[in-house]
Amino acid sequence: SLQGKTAVITGSNSGIGLGIAWEMAKAGADVVINSFTDREEDHAIAAEIAKETGVTARYIQADMSKGDQCRNLIEKAGSCDILINNAGIQHVTAIDEFPVEKWDAIIAINMNSAFHTTAAALPKMRAAGWGRVINIASAHGLTASPYKSAYVAAKHGVVGMTKVVALETAQEPITANAICPGYVLTPLVEAQIPDTMKEYNMSREEVVKNVMLTRQPSKEFATVEQMGGTAVFLCSDAAAQITGTTISVDGGWTAL
Ligand code: NAD
Repeated sequence: SLQGKTAVITGSNSGIGLGIAWEMAKAGADVVINSFTDREEDHAIAAEIAKETGVTARYIQADMSKGDQCRNLIEKAGSCDILINNAGIQHVTAIDEFPVEKWDAIIAINMNSAFHTTAAALPKMRAAGWGRVINIASAHGLTASPYKSAYVAAKHGVVGMTKVVALETAQEPITANAICPGYVLTPLVEAQIPDTMKEYNMSREEVVKNVMLTRQPSKEFATVEQMGGTAVFLCSDAAAQITGTTISVDGGWTAL
């Protein structure tokens, strides 16, 4: 059980982050939910998780595109035994037309945020005598696809940073790993279907079948619950010697 541990999950009012928050809470961890918004429904998510699982769940607003807010999130959380860097955005355009502001935002949110939160969280993990850093990278942290230059660069960067954090904590009871999901049908994936239709001149059905699930030999989307279960496993004693590596949850994508 993860009772007594606090898990901070960045970008967790939706999709994979929210799925991980639920699985962490079901495993007994107190959870901090985060996004850049501060709406009633954001706080309601935390209240629902607390009500259903009995753990303490809080929503803390912080914009993961801003370094100081990333660090503030960890400070406001108080404890941070489990850090899950999940916040991420996507943009699909050929590199010569890729909007500079989209490049900057993707690098900031998908990669730099993990640097800032990890820097702020490690002293807390060391003080507590236990810690887990879990970065939600992607199959695109290990392989590439056209039209996703910023995303692929950021995710490869996160995989590299994960290895460095693992080496710097290797002789401590702290591990750092990256989960590399294949396609999971979340709002992030939904949102890239229109631009992908345009880049490939395909229908929606063709994009799902011939672009997305072509890469996924299982021909099925992975689920947010599976990402949550993998994160919970990485917090178990069985995973104490798993550090500095990637776990693919991608239906065979990276075996191709
Ligand atoms: P999503 O859009 O459902 O979730 C993204 C989350 O990040 C949301 O909670 C959103 O509010 C938050 N977020 C966005 N910008 C933020 C900011 N500036 N500050 C704080 N929070 C912010 O998408 P998802 O598919 O659940 O993606 C979650 C992570 O999983 C991302 O890092 C993504 O790259 C990764 N991933 C997703 C897939 C997939 O197929 N869905 C595959 C591989 C990796």
